[in-house]
Amino acid sequence: MLPGWTQTYAGKVRNLYLPDETPEGEQIVKLHGDVVLVVASDRISAYDHVLSPVIPDKGVVLTQLSLWWFAQLAHTVADHVVSTIVPDDVAGRAMICRRLDMYPVECVARGYLTGSGLAEYQRSGMVTGIRLPSGLVDGSRLPEPIFTPATKAELGSHDQNITFDATVELVGPDTARRLRDLTLEIYRRAEAITAERGLILADTKLEFGRDVDGEITLADEILTPDSSRFWPADAWSPGQAQPSFDKQYVRDWLTSPDSGWSRTSDAPPPPLPDSVVTRTRDRYLEAYRRITGQDLDPRAVPPR
Ligand code: ATP
Ligand code: MG
Repeated sequence: MLPGWTQTYAGKVRNLYLPDETPEGEQIVKLHGDVVLVVASDRISAYDHVLSPVIPDKGVVLTQLSLWWFAQLAHTVADHVVSTIVPDDVAGRAMICRRLDMYPVECVARGYLTGSGLAEYQRSGMVTGIRLPSGLVDGSRLPEPIFTPATKAELGSHDQNITFDATVELVGPDTARRLRDLTLEIYRRAEAITAERGLILADTKLEFGRDVDGEITLADEILTPDSSRFWPADAWSPGQAQPSFDKQYVRDWLTSPDSGWSRTSDAPPPPLPDSVVTRTRDRYLEAYRRITGQDLDPRAVPPR
């Protein structure tokens, strides 16, 4: 129970709350206007399943890293953050945000080829309708970063890559162009920052919404290990899967014989062993440290 707030949505990772009709809720609206409380839980998902158990402090890491990136991009794009002064129970893992009308498009930028982009390229030589040079392999750097939008899937199914033309159908030509240009600009800026820290930003997924005045606004989480692939630059070696700071560690365990689980089965994945939970937690904290150059003590957050 969060005083003043009522939960309206539970995603795989985040829970959303709106101000309720109690005096506390009315106070929030008076102070901040039309807002939503975005709370990052410690849940982790892989292969479209929410896994158990949770990864302790993961939600704090995701929120603090997103806030760090929003600050880095403050001159590039309007974002949804209003305040980090939130109820104690979710301190450090929540942000009060402007409530946006979200565009039904996942805005993905790729500077390197892997994942669903690689799979599409191997079938057709294209990614979301963009033709790429022949001979690229897993981990190849692209001639230039590309915008490869996807539609948001319902809970439990895969996001679907779509062409730019399909994006135009969904949001109109002006918004589609703007989303593409903003996504690529944010990718370039973020890539320059991670490069200084010895990390490759292989790809990233952004979500945008429209605010009451119609302004395109950057929302959700940004540039975290859940939404992006970060590779240590010194270990980059195209032609194979790259070591990474994203959920690859968990995915690898799930698909290894150790887990006894098959991706193609209907069965839910087995619980993660303690060692996998601990290693995964360490990787999230390490990603925060590598990207921001600062240590995060999740139990000491937030310093207000
Ligand atoms: P997944 O990210 O695993 O695909 P999901 O999309 O359901 O799952 P979560 O990240 O768990 O997402 O939940 C966050 C939800 O909040 C998303 O649906 C996102 O579009 C939405 N959202 C983020 N910021 C805002 C905002 N400022 N206003 C309204 N909705 C928002
Ligand atoms: Mg999400």
